[in-house]
Amino acid sequence: MTPIGVIESDYPDKFGIPRQPGLAPAARASLVLTPPYDDPLAVRGLDTFSHLWLSFVFHLSPAQAAPEDWSPLVRPPRLGGNARVGVFASRSTHRPNRLGLSLVELLEIDTRRGVRLVLGGCDLVSGTPILDIKPYLPWAEARPEARAGFAPEAPPLLPVTLAPEVETTLAERADGDSLRELIHQVLAQDPRPAYRNGAEERIYGVRLRDVDVRFRAEADPAGDIRLRVVEIVPA
Ligand code: SAM
Repeated sequence: MTPIGVIESDYPDKFGIPRQPGLAPAARASLVLTPPYDDPLAVRGLDTFSHLWLSFVFHLSPAQAAPEDWSPLVRPPRLGGNARVGVFASRSTHRPNRLGLSLVELLEIDTRRGVRLVLGGCDLVSGTPILDIKPYLPWAEARPEARAGFAPEAPPLLPVTLAPEVETTLAERADGDSLRELIHQVLAQDPRPAYRNGAEERIYGVRLRDVDVRFRAEADPAGDIRLRVVEIVPA
């Protein structure tokens, strides 16, 4: 298969990206179509749809070329990172053929130079190769009554607070408001490894746009965990 385009997103790294699309609606991405697929005729009519399915390659996951390179079991973060389920019962990034599927919002189609689809809520790292685009059909594909096994609802959210210096840095940026919103939405998912769920001294970093967002997990006065952004520095 030949990719039809590539993602440019708010996520320069894998770490911290929400585990499904739509969990951080403030995340912006563009799907830039590559020749010969960057023909505006190929997207004629697409602007009448609000959401798209993207088929893509988890290009940062190892290829599972040889039989010894793959495992039938994976450990979903939703089960705490310890319990194992079959890879085909999961949305793991480690899978045969490394194929991924994301439902994203289509915000704009820019055909001034080639074709650029502006997307909302994308869960893909910058550089992800896209194999195909299909419009989402809610009357056929929305199934609110469906059972969703070990992931029956969206993950719980953690409160996020920002140090005063972080607010100062954000206030100086032209995109400060949207970056603040993105930081809140991404960190509320608790990007730490699933087995780390308590307070920690350790400082983690999530790269968003051109900055490294440094945060720590701390207990509030009631003992509940919240994430505190201690600084944002150029990445
Ligand atoms: N919605 C897609 C699916 O179900 O196929 C992706 C789900 S997967 C659990 C989401 C995670 O994939 C993100 O949290 C991010 O860390 C990782 N990811 C995103 N783009 C990737 C890429 N190009 N290669 C490898 N991992 C990627």
